Amino acid sequence: MSSLGDIQDRIDAACAKAGRANDVTLIAVSKVQPLERVEAVLKMGHRVFGENRVQEAAGKWPGFRETFENIDLHLIGPLQTNKVKQAVGLFDVIHSVDREKLARKLAEEFDAADKQIPCFLQINTGEEEQKAGCLPAEADAFVRACREDYALPVAGLMCIPPADEEPSLHFALLKKIAVRNGLSGLSMGMSGDFESAIALGATHIRVGSAIFGARVPG
Ligand SMILES: *Cc1c(COP(=O)(O)O)cnc(C)c1O
Repeated sequence: MSSLGDIQDRIDAACAKAGRANDVTLIAVSKVQPLERVEAVLKMGHRVFGENRVQEAAGKWPGFRETFENIDLHLIGPLQTNKVKQAVGLFDVIHSVDREKLARKLAEEFDAADKQIPCFLQINTGEEEQKAGCLPAEADAFVRACREDYALPVAGLMCIPPADEEPSLHFALLKKIAVRNGLSGLSMGMSGDFESAIALGATHIRVGSAIFGARVPG
């Protein structure tokens, strides 16, 4: 496991280089990692984690929450409407709001649970067929609908650049969409590209393998 401290040092350096204060939230992406590795990072004092599947998070995090206080759990993967209720019970932030049907369902569940969870809207900046996210051309209308029609607490935008393209082009596009919509949160950057995401204004980076080591398949 490469140390959490190394990643924090790299975040500090990237912020300094970009001439910004280090206000970057490091989301340690713990999906598919052995529990001992996750527990080791919790014991180092880190509290912000990301999972991409509701079911997997449900099996892991209620137990950790009994032992460790102030855990901040982020959902970074696709959310099906039939899992919204469970997700609202488990997570503190949702990064993958990508369609109106989901926005409506979240709004209903927030009302029912009397709870408001910050939401990032996922934008499919690469316009990839197989990838979730609202298309860039529809982003402004989607932001407006989430805020006005569904009154969601919209914290910002999120993207996952195509694997084979220069990520900074996608980070820059995401930022441009956020700025023109008056949104300050930018969830972008993973193990391989978080420094360039920070240079382009990321407020939340989602780093898995660089903290925990390669994911153990299973
Ligand atoms: C798995 C995952 C990450 C972390 O990926 P690494 O390359 O291991 O840092 C970040 N974001 C999302 C949406 C993911 O699914």
